[in-house]
Amino acid sequence: MLNVLFVASEAYPFAKTGGMGDVIGALPRAFTKDVDARVIMPLYSTIPKKLRETFKSLGHLYVQMNDKFDYCGIFTCDYEGVIFYFIDNEAFFNRPALYGYFDDGERFIFFCRAVLDAIPYLDFTPDILHCHDWQTAAVPYLLTHQYRMIFPDMKSVFTVHNMKYQGVYDFDHINGYLHLGFLPSDLEFYGRINLLKGALYSADLVTTVSPTYAEELKDPYFGEGLEGVIREISDREVGIINGIDESCYDPRTDSALTIPFADSDNKKAENKKALQKHLNLPIREDVPMISMITRLVEQKGLDLVANVIHEILQMDLQLVILGTGDSVYEDLLQSVAYNYPDKMSAIIGFDEPLSRRIYAASDFFLMPSKFEPCGLSQMIAMRYGAIPIVRETGGLKDTITCFDSKTKQGNGFCFATYNAHDMLFTIQQAVSLYTETPELFQDLIKKAFNTHSDWTLSANTYLAQYQKLLGE
Ligand code: ADP
Repeated sequence: MLNVLFVASEAYPFAKTGGMGDVIGALPRAFTKDVDARVIMPLYSTIPKKLRETFKSLGHLYVQMNDKFDYCGIFTCDYEGVIFYFIDNEAFFNRPALYGYFDDGERFIFFCRAVLDAIPYLDFTPDILHCHDWQTAAVPYLLTHQYRMIFPDMKSVFTVHNMKYQGVYDFDHINGYLHLGFLPSDLEFYGRINLLKGALYSADLVTTVSPTYAEELKDPYFGEGLEGVIREISDREVGIINGIDESCYDPRTDSALTIPFADSDNKKAENKKALQKHLNLPIREDVPMISMITRLVEQKGLDLVANVIHEILQMDLQLVILGTGDSVYEDLLQSVAYNYPDKMSAIIGFDEPLSRRIYAASDFFLMPSKFEPCGLSQMIAMRYGAIPIVRETGGLKDTITCFDSKTKQGNGFCFATYNAHDMLFTIQQAVSLYTETPELFQDLIKKAFNTHSDWTLSANTYLAQYQKLLGE
């Protein structure tokens, strides 16, 4: 049995701001009997009370941060067969949101130190610490440079879910928490500390969330300044595509849906009607509905949408956007929706049940990302019979191929160049397939329902990598 401790800043259903939360909620459960995978994460005050009530205390310790010692409570629970551990500190984690604070660097270095200090107190000895994104990047670094004597054989795996977020802080700001004294070259980034860079150099294995993104990261367009480091460590960098939890995203059993549906019945249309009613859009079965459910940030192609939104809304379609993020996009989308009340609805916020109702109601799901490490939404969309319209990048390229109406090959609509008019043209093609050849569109929907993106394949690939790392 191989013991793996997932170290992450979010895990569904305890805390989630994006795809990484989904991954940590689902992947540990996907391993079969060969792996005992557990999760350790911060105990945020935003974790739903119902879940918090199931937590049991394992004790507490004090973590050295600079010249002070901070309290660290350790809690645990068993959620659907997976053991979760939680690091408690009210000063750091009793906040209204997960991220976005002036002291995020300090908060997450505390978390990383607390994880390493807490391991001896757990009823579990990890062979591997599998860390995710910059918030946990100090773990491989500290393990290699400061905790090696305590854990001589422990390996670390670091997964980059998004290279855009690296945890870069002024040396004077976080040096004390890392107990450095000077700025070592494997952390240095233009005179500052880059936590992600430290993890790339220290981890025994670096993974990212799709084979295409693993290659793209070697290119300055995607590498965010660390392309040179990625090229240097490429012999221990692999891309493993994410899956989705198909039992969690199942239109037949999803309690968030107005009318649960199966691919063979005709009830998807009723979900469209219910959403149109809910959003005050004209109730029309024949109008194609295109949706986006996304963080409203540049990465997601919002500037392309903003560029041609009036052209898009000239077509006979309905556009539904659920998201939260940069205020410039929030304001713009709301004001356009205000001007096209019969065609567009923009809901600003993070709303999990509504997101599921939108997937279920939509005919198309738009993801014109500038870059997309993996992307889960396109896979979730297909589960609910919404056809992805994507830009060919990262995981979108690995999961969606262009539909060819002659050969009937392909499962979505794609464009290659990051260009608003290429996107517009692709949307026009999608809409014309919907209106002019409904039988072909129905074939596409059938194909989407039959596409399986569960975790089995990815879990097996991770297992093979873990075994290689441990020399088994
Ligand atoms: P990323 O991790 O880059 O945000 P992904 O496509 O990998 O993008 O995952 C996004 C996840 O977050 C999906 O499960 C999606 O449904 C969900 N999501 C994004 N924005 C919202 C929102 N405003 N409300 C509800 N769910 C959202």
